[in-house]
Amino acid sequence: MRLKEFVCAVGWSIAIAGLVLIVFEAGRITWERRTERGKQPSLRVTTPIPNKRIPVAPPKPRPLPPDYAVFVLCYHDFRENPNKWSITPERLEAHLQTLKALGFTFLTVSEAVDLLTGKWNGSLPERAVVITVDDGFQSAYTVLFPLLKRYGAKATLFVYTDWIGKSKGALTWEQLREMVQSGLVEVASHTVTHPYPRRLKRTLSHDQYRNRMKQEFEQSKKELEQKLGIKVSGIAYPGGQIDETMKALAKQAGYLWAVSVNPKPMTVGFDRYDIPRYGVGFETTTVALKSWVTKRTIQLTRFSGKTRKETKVSKSNARNSHRVSRVRRVKR
Ligand SMILES: [Zn+2]
Repeated sequence: MRLKEFVCAVGWSIAIAGLVLIVFEAGRITWERRTERGKQPSLRVTTPIPNKRIPVAPPKPRPLPPDYAVFVLCYHDFRENPNKWSITPERLEAHLQTLKALGFTFLTVSEAVDLLTGKWNGSLPERAVVITVDDGFQSAYTVLFPLLKRYGAKATLFVYTDWIGKSKGALTWEQLREMVQSGLVEVASHTVTHPYPRRLKRTLSHDQYRNRMKQEFEQSKKELEQKLGIKVSGIAYPGGQIDETMKALAKQAGYLWAVSVNPKPMTVGFDRYDIPRYGVGFETTTVALKSWVTKRTIQLTRFSGKTRKETKVSKSNARNSHRVSRVRRVKR
């Protein structure tokens, strides 16, 4: 019996000692871990709180004054002996200096569209102007581009693709690429062959005319995008002529906006597919230019459905434009 008791006592002792050892070891490990954590506070892991996301407020569209206006100017060529739709390089520089002195910020057409549709992220320019140049004359590179760099200005060029690189007087694809890469120039479409709608309509049926223009609008966009590696957002209707078929085709071809020639400013609520431009010609002195961009001169529109008020404004501005013409004759 004694032996049995002895064995039993030894067994209990071993069991108790084992338990003590286990408790001690567990305590030691816990203490070591705590010490380690204390040494490396950066490794502390925090449990994520489910569904607690930092709210990101969507950017608010910038409110624009209701009478805010952007003036879009339409140039063609810059040469020493100007014709009806061209001006001398000296006059172009005088225009840029005048606009600079008046505190204008130069935008591209796409930027002007963003600004007037609440998608503009920059600060609101007090005055904004857009230089656009139609057709693709070589002087856009030799005359305009150096001046854009000198005056920190921007421009949008509308080119018709069939002419590019095929004539001495036309821009080359390389020149267009260089201008695009500078960040100062936006390139947009002016169709493939520059057809004149009025002439086409004389010989083609409505469907034939529509198909021809569709092809011109789509192909020029595709070619510009492929050759310049850009996204082409807009088009200038050829020949300064516009009709509802062209507006619909521009939209269908994937253009976000289109410009015409109509001497009035671009304002809030403008028609994306009929952005008005002031046609600059050899008679456009700096005085005439100043008159355009410092007055809200809304002239006769070529569309029906004008309100009485618009007609009234147009008449008074017709008088203004006469006054400008007189100045032009003196100053030219
Ligand atoms: Zn043209």
